[in-house]
Amino acid sequence: MNADIPLLIDKAYVAGQWRDAERHFAVTDPATGETLANIPDLDAEDARQAVAAAETAWRDWRRKTAKERASLLRAWFDLIMANQDALARLMTREQGKPLAESRGEVAYGASFVEFYAEQAKRMAGETLPGHGADKRLLVLREPVGVVAAITPWNFPLAMITRKCAPALAAGCTVVIKPAEATPLTALAMAQLAEEAGIPAGVINVVTAARPAEIGEVLTTDPRVRKVSFTGSTAVGKQLLAQCAGTVKKTSMELGGNAPFIVFDDADLDAAVEGAVASKFRNSGQTCVCTNRLLVQSGVYDAFLDKLATRVAELQVGNGLEEGVSQGPLINEAAVDKVREHIADALDKGGRLICGGQPHELGGTFFQPTVIGEVDERMRVATEETFGPLAPVFRFDTEEDAIAMANATEFGLAAYFYANDYRRIWRVMEALEYGMVAVNEGLLSTELAPFGGVKESGLGREGSHHGLDEYTELKYVCVGGL
Ligand code: NAD
Repeated sequence: MNADIPLLIDKAYVAGQWRDAERHFAVTDPATGETLANIPDLDAEDARQAVAAAETAWRDWRRKTAKERASLLRAWFDLIMANQDALARLMTREQGKPLAESRGEVAYGASFVEFYAEQAKRMAGETLPGHGADKRLLVLREPVGVVAAITPWNFPLAMITRKCAPALAAGCTVVIKPAEATPLTALAMAQLAEEAGIPAGVINVVTAARPAEIGEVLTTDPRVRKVSFTGSTAVGKQLLAQCAGTVKKTSMELGGNAPFIVFDDADLDAAVEGAVASKFRNSGQTCVCTNRLLVQSGVYDAFLDKLATRVAELQVGNGLEEGVSQGPLINEAAVDKVREHIADALDKGGRLICGGQPHELGGTFFQPTVIGEVDERMRVATEETFGPLAPVFRFDTEEDAIAMANATEFGLAAYFYANDYRRIWRVMEALEYGMVAVNEGLLSTELAPFGGVKESGLGREGSHHGLDEYTELKYVCVGGL
């Protein structure tokens, strides 16, 4: 274990105990290839014990007053923010994103803990008019029970708090299965939760190199009442099918294929800034990253020129270094996908504007890339690239843009830039997406419901809607009055 990294802990966390295992797996720094730690590779029996611990802890946790739960969440929030730098450094080491983005993610992730600490006190039921003079009808809002949270590597902290904060606020307990590439941030968060006084068993972290074995337990054990997953659509579908056997509640935050539409009447400079933020953040590895740029014919060439100039300014390097705007990709498979999408687009007539190659730094660093004259025959039209490739499509009319934008089985985030207010309303309503950003390249906030339609998922995270995902309604009919 690299002892110089603050908050690095190399044990899993089950029932309030730091747990080792016979087998281990290496967590590496994608910028250098250095092994940061060897982490316990837990098995199905460990996962069952984590579920048992969460179920035991649930009995007391749900009986705490909302204010007691809120105070503990608030203490966790304070500790996360007090350790913002250390958490950010740890995250950049295991995930690769630039330090400024990691700091941003810590603050963003913490904001869910703060928000749901407040929201815990507002979990209200209702009374309804009775269907007889001697009857009174109540609706109680209750925690669902043990929650399994399965999270991806691209946001090692925020994807955990988006699930755990509302779950804990509602009175649920959780078993977290972090991505095998980024368990260190998850374990650091558990360490801070313990320090904040969150009782043993309320949060458990099951680290594993073989996710299917753990996933099998979490999706079939009847004690788990809810599975909240963020990751790829393929794995999400498999988990949904597994959850059917015990009819679990599920939230699925899956893949996207975000269109970013630039209309003739848009402010082009603002659109370029929005496109760069939305496309190249986290090296293009976010589910709401722009996947397809759709630009109207009248401004196509001008937009492409401006975009190429701006993209050429992006600095690639180790995320720990000052001024770096794009870190390495997570692994070789991610690089392969970007290369395949570029080769396919160029093969079918795309025009390389800039980038297109692995970066001279080697490893998994890749040049920020722009390709023009992209069309719907190319793989980038239908598949999520998840890397620093901006493919620019051309369209003529508003109807064409909407048809192209909606021609996908995904429906997570969409972006468009325009100024005519009538167009803004028309397009906003016509886009088949869970989230739409108008004249804006970044849209995530704890204050708004985040989530997708179609094959991008089920359920919402953030805002007061996010709390509902972790509660059940119980209808009580009181008669004979
Ligand atoms: P992934 O689906 O490979 O893995 C996600 C998590 O699922 C990891 O913890 C992994 O270990 C686990 N997992 C994999 N197979 C499993 C199985 N059989 N049983 C149980 N768990 C299993 O996804 P990824 O590569 O880590 O993340 C990238 C994907 O996540 C992209 O498609 C991206 O769009 C999506 N994503 C979506 C959102 C959102 O909010 N909609 C946010 C971030 C990422």
